[in-house]
Amino acid sequence: MLLKPLDTKLAFSSNNNNNSTSAALWKSNADIKFNNTTNNTTNNTHTISHNYTAKSNSINLNLKQQPLRDYSINDFEIGRKLGKGKFGKVYCVRDKKTGYVCALKVMEKEELTHFKVEKQFRREVEIQSNLRHPNVLRLFGYFHDSKRVYLILEYVIHGELYGFLKKKGRFDDALASHYIYQMILALSYLHKKHIIHRDIKPENILLGFDNIIKLSDFGWSVHAPSLKRSTMCGTLDYLSPEMIESKDHNEKVDIWALGILMYELLVGNPPFEEGCQQTTYRRIARVDLKIPQFLQPDAVDLIKRLLRYDPTKRISLSDAQNHPWILRNKKYWPKPNKSNPM
Ligand code: AMP
Repeated sequence: MLLKPLDTKLAFSSNNNNNSTSAALWKSNADIKFNNTTNNTTNNTHTISHNYTAKSNSINLNLKQQPLRDYSINDFEIGRKLGKGKFGKVYCVRDKKTGYVCALKVMEKEELTHFKVEKQFRREVEIQSNLRHPNVLRLFGYFHDSKRVYLILEYVIHGELYGFLKKKGRFDDALASHYIYQMILALSYLHKKHIIHRDIKPENILLGFDNIIKLSDFGWSVHAPSLKRSTMCGTLDYLSPEMIESKDHNEKVDIWALGILMYELLVGNPPFEEGCQQTTYRRIARVDLKIPQFLQPDAVDLIKRLLRYDPTKRISLSDAQNHPWILRNKKYWPKPNKSNPM
């Protein structure tokens, strides 16, 4: 892939930054104080506290993208903590110069090296920073200091779709189809660029204003012009049969994962979830689907077309976009009103 340099001018001019609204939100719940010894930040009242003690700047970032040289942590006011991932914490921050609000993912270099996830990190930066789609989380750029790497991300107000799903239990056809439709658009965009996401699940989908979703977390994604891969990756419940059987796989693994996602949004849990990993594997390999009575026939039809054992038989994204379940529910999709979907 030919990687273009980061578009730093665009970095904070995203129209997703509704500043009048987000300015009021970024500060709330500021449960942190700034206490970063590597940076001179005496004016700041908040802390980014790190449990992990980084000792050296040993990581080889080896990124094709150049860091944003003009940026350091001192350029931001730090707001509330938005969440904690496997590697790093995410804060709502405001760019002091422009006032733009964004999310800052802070990762310890030593932690990335210790857990040998530099490759995942590089993928995340190299792939995600080149993506521009309303349903894909923008990565504006990154910078680093002696101990940490910082990713500047589009701020998405309601956080993980997973949390909203757990709160609601399950979604009705109207809401689920609205989310699945947006996922189809995001995946069509990625696949056209020969990118396979490989880790679709509600935890990696962020929920913004007007029920707009943003696909995030490109740590497992791959740019594969041949679209033929064999590494087993992703999350157990979302793994496709070809992945668990260690066969070559291609972008159809995302179509399978879309079927699992659709089931989980409508039912409340993924279809092959079991206490024991081996049982889940077995049920995936047999496509052992148990369909609850309350699912509508057209929803069941689409789930079954997405969850085909043979990747070549899975429904295409363009056919899924025009499936009767999507078309029937389109008229019920929530109207944009800037209200909190919670
Ligand atoms: P991650 O390390 O990417 O898994 O992120 C950890 C948590 O931070 C997520 O589960 C979200 O709740 C939150 N988060 C991550 N990125 C964003 C973002 N761009 N906007 C809002 N919240 C975010």
